[in-house]
Amino acid sequence: MSRQSDFNAAAQAYYSTQVDISESLLERVASWWRGLSPQRAAEGSSAVVREFQALVSSSRTRSYAEGVKFHNAAREAATGEPAPESTWDGRDLAAEAGQSKTSYYVHTAPLREEMKRGRLDDPEFLKSLDETMESAGRNLARDAGRLAEAGGRDALAEAREEDPDVIGWYRKTDADPCGFCAMLASRGGAFTKYMEPDRFHTGCHCQTLPLFRGVEIPAEDAAKRDEYLARWNATPGSGADQVKAFQQEFNAERKARRDEQ
Ligand SMILES: [Zn+2]
Repeated sequence: MSRQSDFNAAAQAYYSTQVDISESLLERVASWWRGLSPQRAAEGSSAVVREFQALVSSSRTRSYAEGVKFHNAAREAATGEPAPESTWDGRDLAAEAGQSKTSYYVHTAPLREEMKRGRLDDPEFLKSLDETMESAGRNLARDAGRLAEAGGRDALAEAREEDPDVIGWYRKTDADPCGFCAMLASRGGAFTKYMEPDRFHTGCHCQTLPLFRGVEIPAEDAAKRDEYLARWNATPGSGADQVKAFQQEFNAERKARRDEQ
């Protein structure tokens, strides 16, 4: 195997593992949620929030470890050496717990609103409460997936800062990304110190991956970059208008494709 193919394989394995981590957490949160009554879920006692935090944290731990593992594998493929251990300064568990808590309260807010609206002996109300419960759980589970994947993304962000052998980075997108992610991917490899905010929305498995001397963006990702860049260049306007037009058109086509399926 060549350096490049080892590097490609590491990137692909990392990406797939992060999708798995996120999706398996989503299922675990959904099944935990089904065991909560609407009252308990809406109340959000510290015991309930702690359960949610623990679910997220165990997946985030795995995701972080996979980030370290991938960075080393990619670096080793390119340079022959893994990164020194001092590359990583470790996680801020208090901050992570705070993020999970915020996520819990944000996604259960509609449920608390709904609880104020009606009486638990009214069948109509119970039906709409069930629906609110279901959508709150779905949104919470999806956000848990995003928080879990932040583990690996944090590990890679630390390595980008600390590892002098990182010469650039690129955004690897999902197979069918949204317009925002496609726009970032259209920029290809970035080789400056300046980093755009590393933003990842809910349901997005895109990753910002490092580049080292001796390896290039994997061909598959480079082909997407070219495709998105051609679209970008064909989008009229400039500045914020061009950004908006690109994303609108991209998302509209994506929606049409998905509706057809
Ligand atoms: Zn994305």
